[in-house]
Amino acid sequence: MTIKKSFKYRLRLTPEQESLCNQTAGSCRYVWNKALALKKELDWLSIPPSQSLQQVNKDLDQAFKNFFRGRGYPKFKKKGIHDSFRLPQGITLLNQLSKKVGQAQIPKLGTVRFTKTREINGKIKHVTVSKICRNWFISFNCEVDIPEPKEIPQSHIGIDRGIKTFAQCSNRLAIPTISPLKKNLKRLAKLQRQLSKKKKFSSNWRKTKQKIQKLHNHIANIRNDFLHKTSTQLTKSHGLIVMEDLKTKDMAKSAKGTKENPGTNVKAKSLLNRSILDQGWYTFQNHLSYKLSWKGGRLILVSPKNTSLECRKCHHISKENRINQEVFQCRSCGHTENADLNASINILSRGIDPPNSFKGGVLAAGHAVIACGVEALASTAKQELLV
Ligand SMILES: [Zn+2]
Repeated sequence: MTIKKSFKYRLRLTPEQESLCNQTAGSCRYVWNKALALKKELDWLSIPPSQSLQQVNKDLDQAFKNFFRGRGYPKFKKKGIHDSFRLPQGITLLNQLSKKVGQAQIPKLGTVRFTKTREINGKIKHVTVSKICRNWFISFNCEVDIPEPKEIPQSHIGIDRGIKTFAQCSNRLAIPTISPLKKNLKRLAKLQRQLSKKKKFSSNWRKTKQKIQKLHNHIANIRNDFLHKTSTQLTKSHGLIVMEDLKTKDMAKSAKGTKENPGTNVKAKSLLNRSILDQGWYTFQNHLSYKLSWKGGRLILVSPKNTSLECRKCHHISKENRINQEVFQCRSCGHTENADLNASINILSRGIDPPNSFKGGVLAAGHAVIACGVEALASTAKQELLV
């Protein structure tokens, strides 16, 4: 089986190379913004035939495809935020300079050096050069051959995603939201207040802006690490994972709270929620999807309708079943349980009972490999639920 994998390293650029990188990223941003502005009026584009600039157009197309799948509308790019460019061809890996210093030949940039922290495997398909807090990075996006999965884990879980509990699993495992994030939110808000008081583009304004970017990066690193560890852990022991097919909009709403229980600091929170959660949820979903497919497993997305209001024992659906945020108590049969746990079990049963309630899409690749596996999983899962 061939999979896609990225290997990312910090670049050690010469001043000339760095200035060229800045220029290229700037040109790409320009093309993106122009193309997006054009696309808003017209449905056609013509782009100067330069590799990286063409790539921008492809990326924008992808961004629009994602938009039609329920993600946000593509945004105009700002200087200094996600500065990057892609090179689809002409990349050659050169002999290493030393144990820790790798070298590669890149179009226009020439020979670049980078801190090599691990081996690059597979065939390089394209390269992304990106800037994070003043440092440039190179990411080799490769196609790697991995052995066909032999044994698919027979276990299966439903996952209910939440704000407080990041993931409530139907097997009672509750993965809490990571706390370093909360700490940083306060600092971030403070820095943003400081920034708003400073004169725009002054040197102090720039310094604060840089601090904010650094903190954003720090938060992203913690989250990425958490998402990787969590998804690896879950896919190691489960062959079938069922989740709700959630849209960004639904998730950002959570900051507003409910009528009875309105949120505080809604604006600030929803902005933060959006930036952090958007990425977190999609990344988590994607991590689960590809990590499962590597192992012959599968991620199933089901309709989120009433998963939190339905009793998992008698299937009675009512708003009154929710006593509060934490507790579920069925008005019909009296079944009482942690609300997230009840939802996660509903989610699992929707995923393994396709004729009645399966409405979601399947994200994982490799259907042929798992076609027989899933049926087996479904039957054992049902048996377990009946107990
Ligand atoms: Zn009930």
